[in-house]
Amino acid sequence: MKTQTLISVKKFGGTSVGSIEKIRNLADRIKRESNPDKAQVLVVSAMSGETNKLVALGENIFSGFRGPAYDMLLASGEQVSAALVSMALEKVGLKSKPYLAYQLGIVTDSMYSRARITRIDTKKILADIREGIIPVVAGFQGVDALDNITTLGRGGSDTTGVALAAAIGAGECEIYTDVPAVFTADPRLVPRAREISKISFEEMIEMASLGSKVLHIRSVELGAKYHVRIHVRSSFEDREGTWIIPEGEIMENPLVSSLTHEALTAVIKLFPLPKGTESLASLFEDLSEKGVVVDIITQSEAPQGQQLAFSVPHEDLKLALEVIDQRFSKEIQVEVMKEISKVSIVGVGMRNHPGVAAKFFRTLANKNIPVHLVTTSEIKVSAIIDKKDLAEAANSLHTAFDLDS
Ligand code: ADP
Ligand code: ASP
Ligand code: MG
Repeated sequence: MKTQTLISVKKFGGTSVGSIEKIRNLADRIKRESNPDKAQVLVVSAMSGETNKLVALGENIFSGFRGPAYDMLLASGEQVSAALVSMALEKVGLKSKPYLAYQLGIVTDSMYSRARITRIDTKKILADIREGIIPVVAGFQGVDALDNITTLGRGGSDTTGVALAAAIGAGECEIYTDVPAVFTADPRLVPRAREISKISFEEMIEMASLGSKVLHIRSVELGAKYHVRIHVRSSFEDREGTWIIPEGEIMENPLVSSLTHEALTAVIKLFPLPKGTESLASLFEDLSEKGVVVDIITQSEAPQGQQLAFSVPHEDLKLALEVIDQRFSKEIQVEVMKEISKVSIVGVGMRNHPGVAAKFFRTLANKNIPVHLVTTSEIKVSAIIDKKDLAEAANSLHTAFDLDS
């Protein structure tokens, strides 16, 4: 098929559709970029702040509830923006149709709040394109085999964009957002962060999994798997941003390409767990059954039993404590650290270079920043630290690894 260069999939994030004026600007941009040889398919997020408002409404009715009703609630923000953007396109003289996931056939599994796309029916989109109609697709949502509305996890509109690009064979997906590029660190935390022009899928997956919310992790995984190049760029400026592409296409890989943080996480410490292998295995089975994502784990044996510490996302803390409460008797001490952050460095260049971890810990030690938990992989080093130390840790590591602009 010759669709490779013929369709441009453009995903617009919350700030890009955050007001009537911004939606009008978006429509003007789409009109300017109209080209009879290259069709446009749009994916939109909810207007900025809307999904948070919906979360708060749900929390007020039934704190912690998850299931089809919750996903239906959260998905409604995207319905509003898809309709408004489609109307704005019509207003500037373009033909357009808005779509919810169920109308299009964006099918997912039934893991509510973190569903995965299993299939996309492209018939309607391809028919629209043939007729010169611009489809505007509500991001972040899907429909499961039971016809329930599902959502893909916070930030999931990126994944709708890349999955759609893969399904229609577009070859690339443009992600329009409120920053002009992916930076070496979140510019809100590290003012000296600089723009990255190209970064590998593998590094971007690490960054996303370590807390950088510039792209939804699943979108990058799909990009890597289905060869969809991702272009992160500004909604408000007309210039190139960052290309996320295969590692082999990047000539020079710096030792460390970026610093990532997760502002709020939580650590749970347990002591003493019953000795032996059973209690550890069944605890993590229970946690995984409830959908709690466990991150860094450390464990050590002491004469009285095992000492265990692990980190969980802040939003999963309540559920994790319920699981622990049900599994263990009251003799076990449970300590929770709440004001906790994670800071990490990522780079494919560190694969063959010793000394990266040494420099990482030396930098933190020089600033007297205590480290609670640590984890490393071939291309990353991560540490759990106190939230009050986050800005200092991030900025000094950014400088130490020559990332400053
Ligand atoms: P959108 O609503 O367009 O999807 P998001 O808020 O999800 O936008 O993602 C963009 C935000 O990601 C930026 O405003 C920025 O604060 C944050 N961010 C975190 N890490 C980075 C990074 N390394 N480079 C750029 N932005 C980052
Ligand atoms: N509106 C959803 C959220 O805020 C999805 C997205 O923006 O990508 O998480
Ligand atoms: Mg986002």
